[in-house]
Amino acid sequence: MKLDAESTQPKRILLTDYKAPSYQVKSIQLHFNLHENKTLVRTTLDFEKKANEPLVLNGTHLKLIEIKLNGETLENSAYSVDAEYLTIHQTPDTFKLETLVEINPEQNKSCSGLYLSKGIFATQCEAEGFRNITYFLDRPDVMTSYSVTMEADKAKYPVLLSNGDLISQTDLADGRHQAVWRDPHKKPCYLFALVAGDLGVVRGDFTTQSGKNVKLEVYASHGKQSRCHHALESLKKSMKWDEERFGLEYDLNQYMIVSIDDFNMGAMENKGLNIFNSRLVLADPESATDTDFDRIESVVGHEYFHNWTGNRVTCRNWFELSLKEGLTVFRDQEFSSDLNSRAVQRIKDVDSLRQRQFSEDAGPNSHPVRPESCLAVDNFYTPTIYEKGAEVIRMMQTIVGTVGFRKGMDEYFRRHDGQAVTILDFSDAIAFPNKADLSQFKLWYSQAGTPEVSVTESYDSQKKEYALTLKQSCALTEKQPIKKPFHIPLLIGLLDKNGRDIKLNCADLSLNSDNKSVLHLKQEQQTFVFTDVVEKPVLSLNREFSAPIKLNWNATNEDLLHLIKFDSDAFNRREACFKMTLEELKRLIDLSIKKSPLAANPQIVETFGYILRDTHIDPQFKALMLQLPDDDILAQEIPVLDAKAMSAARNTIVQAIVSEFHSLLKEIYHQQKNENSVGARALKNRVLRFLVEANHPEAVALAYNQFQEAANMTDKIGALSALCVTDSQEKQQALETFFNRWKDDAVVFNKWIQVQSTASLESTFDTVKKIADTKPFSRENPNNIYSLHAAFGDNYLAMQKEDGSTFKWLCDEIINIDKMNPQVAANVCGSFNFIKKYPTNLRDLAQKEIKRLLDNPQLSRNARELLEGCI
Ligand SMILES: [Zn+2]
Repeated sequence: MKLDAESTQPKRILLTDYKAPSYQVKSIQLHFNLHENKTLVRTTLDFEKKANEPLVLNGTHLKLIEIKLNGETLENSAYSVDAEYLTIHQTPDTFKLETLVEINPEQNKSCSGLYLSKGIFATQCEAEGFRNITYFLDRPDVMTSYSVTMEADKAKYPVLLSNGDLISQTDLADGRHQAVWRDPHKKPCYLFALVAGDLGVVRGDFTTQSGKNVKLEVYASHGKQSRCHHALESLKKSMKWDEERFGLEYDLNQYMIVSIDDFNMGAMENKGLNIFNSRLVLADPESATDTDFDRIESVVGHEYFHNWTGNRVTCRNWFELSLKEGLTVFRDQEFSSDLNSRAVQRIKDVDSLRQRQFSEDAGPNSHPVRPESCLAVDNFYTPTIYEKGAEVIRMMQTIVGTVGFRKGMDEYFRRHDGQAVTILDFSDAIAFPNKADLSQFKLWYSQAGTPEVSVTESYDSQKKEYALTLKQSCALTEKQPIKKPFHIPLLIGLLDKNGRDIKLNCADLSLNSDNKSVLHLKQEQQTFVFTDVVEKPVLSLNREFSAPIKLNWNATNEDLLHLIKFDSDAFNRREACFKMTLEELKRLIDLSIKKSPLAANPQIVETFGYILRDTHIDPQFKALMLQLPDDDILAQEIPVLDAKAMSAARNTIVQAIVSEFHSLLKEIYHQQKNENSVGARALKNRVLRFLVEANHPEAVALAYNQFQEAANMTDKIGALSALCVTDSQEKQQALETFFNRWKDDAVVFNKWIQVQSTASLESTFDTVKKIADTKPFSRENPNNIYSLHAAFGDNYLAMQKEDGSTFKWLCDEIINIDKMNPQVAANVCGSFNFIKKYPTNLRDLAQKEIKRLLDNPQLSRNARELLEGCI
């Protein structure tokens, strides 16, 4: 069939189009006859009609071989099939539908549906992958009971896994075998999973609070079992934490995690059978950094926590994705905070929010936590849905306190266990037992953008009154030309001249159930008056980053230094440091663009000296205080994204710190070298990076020596990434050594790619092109693409080439990747987020290439949706 001009334009899906399903599926039986290039799937569905409409099932890339209704083969005229749907024109009130389809897992390079990853059959069904496996009502509000039978060659695929309980495993003729699995819990099809392969396993167990014994299994390719123990221990910790914090117990007899190398996302919470990207399972000190260890703990927790927030209570449709993701990210952040340092965790989470989500809000693809339309559902997996969604949950907890929040969670499960519901159902459940009014608060779900709050202070020494005037605003967008004021909960403190917290007296201040002082900014402008304030205080606002906002506050460097030294809120101690450096970078960038001479403000340099000298600061916290704001954060703050000016500003500060404190830096480096802790490694590597970036004469030797001696990956990578910003012989030697050691390791090989693609050097482009042609780099592996293309795309200094050759190369690559895997291609398109802020000549060159992509009718909806706003 030929498409007419109009239908080549992909149609937008709207939130307001939602209609309850016309058919209920009472049960599904799946039979898989697994072969690499020809898998047969027989599906039996038990239907009940709810509305008098034709039955329309989703199905893509399927070859329909047989179709029967109540045991009778359907005549050709009774149904129709196209590239996306199977429609049965007339149906009885209740009936059984049986289909047999053929699929080709070997040819499926999209990592969605059923596919092969290095000889292992695996599935990924969220969001809409199940339709690549069989005909079904592929939507999350259709929940049903699953029985799965799988047959495969026994020698090649000895392990056969699916959701729920293993019912039987039997040998068949011709060297094949069969397993039958049944899931006792109803679920939406996006949680279906199947794995078949030759896998090693590490086993453990966990006894739940009610005394049930759960078998735990972590599967990975043979030889990798020794790297599975951290994931297994993280799983046990997650199970215990969810019982203690939320009273939630696991509901099956078995919990399985399978690690595979080719995976689009981080991991997937399929009921009882999680499938993980191998980089988020496999870890030992030799192959994984401290950051990897933390990340694995948090992602294992995240997927486990979904069992309640996502699987038992799921989303009514994909516009409600944040119902499960925002809430589960919040839960995994809390899990990590309870297990590790709460302050460090909060700082890292907020850094990530600012880098990723605030950037998204500042670019063309800004959208609300509950979006209203989309071209491709896969594009919903954004920092806004996940990270801002988690912030919205956190604000609710700030409003009602942790005790009140727990009551609300209990109410949520009491009302909605076993249902597919909406974000507003969740906030209603939180509000109800707390008698909280969240009506204005709900605007956080529907209004896009990062709110800004401006601060004006005045102090009356006669009346002993301190008045704080807050004014909120949020950038208007084409899609949302009117915005109402948000309900912004702000944790607050006031410091006296000795750095102690002043007792707060303010009529408009409320205490939550944790006894914390909260200001509720609800109007466009509000003034809060504090009485009995005997001296002018120093403000500490938005403690713990209680609201995801930008604070416009003209604090003096003296006030910021006071907070750095004394604030009892650890988050704001570091925040003061961050703010001071950010303002200084902005000042220097402006000077650099005007071609004026650059010199760092001595006050800033001295603040770094204070932090370096203070031996009471925990090393991990100190490393975070010394960290300069990331380029993605800077990019939001400046009118023109001039990468050379950004780099010059950064270098000016680093040079000044190193020239003033080089002996102290070296002293700290050697001190920390003798310590064996996460914090010591973080601080040592931060200091090393300063020395290298400032071209200190001993720096390359220090880095190379660390690279050679390091017994753990944190120090290896710390040294290697530092060497990668130099132009030294040692850099080449270290890269070669690392490559030879790790090239055959699918996880660690990505680190070798990434240290080079992220190096802030103009020559990085040549390196990147070379890596793309170096085996074992593969465009079929999502992790390889993320480490090379996506990381390079975010490297502003390397990307901003006067001749535009980088844009042309990246767009050519996007076309090729998009043909295989649209989700991964869309991820790379994210590199063009700030393109409109590029200097005019570069922007024009980039937009010319983006237009070329958009003119290509073959471009996927995924990539198209992300690029449309860039021109
Ligand atoms: Zn999730």
